[in-house]
Amino acid sequence: MDPWIPKVIVVASSGAMGAIRAPYALRSLRVKVARSARGPLETTLMTLVWLAFLLPLVWTMTPAFAFADYAVRSTSLVLGTVCLAAGLWFFARSHSDLGTNWSMTLAVRETHALVTGGIYRYLRHPMYLGLLLYATGQALVLSNWIAGPSWAVAMMSVVVFRVGPEERLMMERFGLAYQAYMRNTKRLVPRVW
Ligand code: SAH
Repeated sequence: MDPWIPKVIVVASSGAMGAIRAPYALRSLRVKVARSARGPLETTLMTLVWLAFLLPLVWTMTPAFAFADYAVRSTSLVLGTVCLAAGLWFFARSHSDLGTNWSMTLAVRETHALVTGGIYRYLRHPMYLGLLLYATGQALVLSNWIAGPSWAVAMMSVVVFRVGPEERLMMERFGLAYQAYMRNTKRLVPRVW
């Protein structure tokens, strides 16, 4: 398998992710943060997320990680592309439903509203689900032992270390409304968890 195909897929999916996020990020930035729960843990998680975004691009453009390359199979490539597309769909859908309530780090904005509609009707963390799917796709497509799993490492860390603090922050801000929302939804997988 020619390595240019995975490289094209990696650049296209990273570009799509940036293009989906950019307009929402610009809109959110205009709404002041009322309460930030950013500490050393959040800073570490954000660093992992940025590395996850950048390492695959470094792999496509430089030979820095060439020593850890392996040959990609066409089945992984097809399956990985499907996961990337599904992940990007969840990512776009959750951004559209969250609107200006989105933040890169844990924060409550001045006009923050609790979103319980759209895709949030079924799951409390559809964006993280989308990014986990994206991470799976990236690991399947990107035939390198360092850059390939970078999103998987970042997103597993986010799910393990951030979901709890994020739900506590939402509980602190929305109280009973968030408790009721939690009773009717699961975190990442409908009916399971
Ligand atoms: N965990 C969610 C959102 C990720 S963005 C998901 O995976 O889809 C992170 C920000 O979203 C947090 O700072 C929090 O303030 C906000 N947030 C999370 N759930 C929310 C909800 N149901 N309604 C409004 N804001 C929410």
